[in-house]
Amino acid sequence: MCIFCKIIAGEIPSKKVYEDENVLAILDISQVTFGHTLVMPKKHADNIIQADEETVKNCISAAKKLAAQITANTGAAGCNILNNCGEAAGQTVNHLHFHIIPRYSDNDSIVIKFGESEKQDLDKVLKTVRGE
Ligand code: AMP
Ligand code: ZN
Repeated sequence: MCIFCKIIAGEIPSKKVYEDENVLAILDISQVTFGHTLVMPKKHADNIIQADEETVKNCISAAKKLAAQITANTGAAGCNILNNCGEAAGQTVNHLHFHIIPRYSDNDSIVIKFGESEKQDLDKVLKTVRGE
């Protein structure tokens, strides 16, 4: 059983933010910013690609509501809703989860930087991503 399945089963303690039939939201143990919360399905899926649609919908729907609630209650100026899919993307726990990270200022202890790779031929990129 994975660590989040153990949390869902109550075998490992957690700080529960929200729970319904399909979804559990808990405080992230590492609190990147104040209020950092994880939203996960109760049904195990390794990641968003592997999960069935219903599972993803349930999580996204809960994440939307919690993002509004957490942002309002913490007084944050905004929030990032993040999903890391795969080890190369920084996923460390292989149980689908969305991070809700309240944002207070540019100096928050989180850095998200959209750099640029070398100049790309967008038509070639389009063909590739469409699978043509
Ligand atoms: P990711 O890197 O996207 O897979 O995120 C995994 C997150 O799970 C990290 O931010 C960890 O701090 C968090 N985490 C790991 N173990 C626990 C735990 N027992 N309770 C709460 N959060 C955890
Ligand atoms: Zn699991």
